[in-house]
Amino acid sequence: MTLIIDVFICRTDNYGYLAHDTVTGKTAAIDAPDAGAIKSALLHRGWKLSDILITHHHLDHVEAIPELRREFEVMVTGPRAEADKIEGLDILVAPGNKAQIGSVELAVLAVPGHTLGHIAYYDAVGGHIFTADALFSLGVGRMFEGMPGPMWEGLLTLRDLPEDTLIYCGHEYTLSNARFALSIDPKNPALQIRAAEVQRMREAGHHTIPVTLAMEKATNPFLRADQPEIAAAMGLSGDDPVAVFAALRRAKDTFKG
Ligand code: ZN
Ligand code: FE
Repeated sequence: MTLIIDVFICRTDNYGYLAHDTVTGKTAAIDAPDAGAIKSALLHRGWKLSDILITHHHLDHVEAIPELRREFEVMVTGPRAEADKIEGLDILVAPGNKAQIGSVELAVLAVPGHTLGHIAYYDAVGGHIFTADALFSLGVGRMFEGMPGPMWEGLLTLRDLPEDTLIYCGHEYTLSNARFALSIDPKNPALQIRAAEVQRMREAGHHTIPVTLAMEKATNPFLRADQPEIAAAMGLSGDDPVAVFAALRRAKDTFKG
């Protein structure tokens, strides 16, 4: 019934995650950024890889699939909408479906925008969500393929989850995201505290992940695009949240912090 999550850095700033079901002993890698890092995490924990859950087609999330397939008996689950772009998927899932890690069921949620078929995996019992590049701490992924409206809708789905849900995202971008967030929302006391904490954590070499949804709702400007102060900061008071969200995303693209 419960997942133990192991968090480790892959490549340069990607996060690797192992999710281990204590009941069946099954272990999933969430995305496959780096076979070496995933194998050493498995060795360290004494777990054997049984599953891989893929969130989207980008190379830094799928590159290790072939090597892990060669070395372990794994079932690889991934987004049906991106199946033509990902090699080595066994199980195709779409939003509304469930994915499985042993006895644990994860809901598949649609979070389009960074890529069109990007999905998140949500463990409602344990209160974990794997968001990859759809939602970061204090930011969101670059909008490579989608449109602001559906991207905002996907973020609202995430925002509606229980506040104590732990977010596991695809990259350690929190410190640079904090600089942008503070440029938009400088008077937000929760953000000021989080930004200072993130600075300390990074200086000490600690991960800033996982982070609670409650924290992100209070501090992440992209989850606050429907708040008057964020609209005002973008010069869009009274405008549609989608327009504010789109303006935020554009501003982040060119932000030099
Ligand atoms: Zn990506
Ligand atoms: Fe990525």
